Amino acid sequence: MGGTFNPIHYGHLVAAEAARDAFNLDQVIFIPSGQPPHKAGLFVADPEHRYLMTFLAIVSNQHFEISRVEIDRAGPSYTSETLEYFYRMDPSVLWYFITGADAILDIVTWHQPDSIFRHAEFIAASRPGYSLSKIEALKSHLGADQLARIHPLEVPALAISSSQIRERLQQRLSIKYLVPEAVEHYIAKNRVYEALKA
Ligand code: NAP
Repeated sequence: MGGTFNPIHYGHLVAAEAARDAFNLDQVIFIPSGQPPHKAGLFVADPEHRYLMTFLAIVSNQHFEISRVEIDRAGPSYTSETLEYFYRMDPSVLWYFITGADAILDIVTWHQPDSIFRHAEFIAASRPGYSLSKIEALKSHLGADQLARIHPLEVPALAISSSQIRERLQQRLSIKYLVPEAVEHYIAKNRVYEALKA
């Protein structure tokens, strides 16, 4: 499960659990991105803060793990390199990369798209009301084999978004019940999004 997790929220957690159920996954490994590509000009909290918030959010689920692979790798966090890393760890495993459907819409612009499709299949988690025809529209850019490796998954809880949470923090509004309590406390204690309030 890849994401910037800026910050992680209940939508991400419900999406991960829904994917685990729907695709009968043994485990979901959360991979907070180190230096997210495509994020120039946006406020992205420090990678260690995003890693620790993600750790706090997943620690109570025995099927959830977290990886530092992108946090510890220098340079932009290219998914192609991450998927190659996991594939090499165990080529016998069928790896799925779970992320937001809107992120996957841009997959053709990602670094080394062919390598990406060689090493994993994709679960595109979408918000309610999201038109899956957007994924179908990728047909003009991807071959039928690649398109067949993208699996849409509607997750009503993804009505929560990280940008909505950052806006609420900026306006000093409550984020209770949108993120796990430990994450809420971590953000407050470490003033993670203080720069937004200036
Ligand atoms: P983003 O553009 O910030 O997010 C696009 C949409 O997807 C947002 O609505 C976002 O909601 C949602 N989303 C993101 N991660 C999600 C997740 N794990 N589960 C459900 N919804 C999710 O996306 P991003 O976080 O930067 O990138 C997503 C993943 O794609 C990351 O692992 C990133 O490294 C990878 N990526 C790779 C490349 C590349 O290799 N060149 C380029 C772009 C993205 P929230 O804001 O609420 O999360």
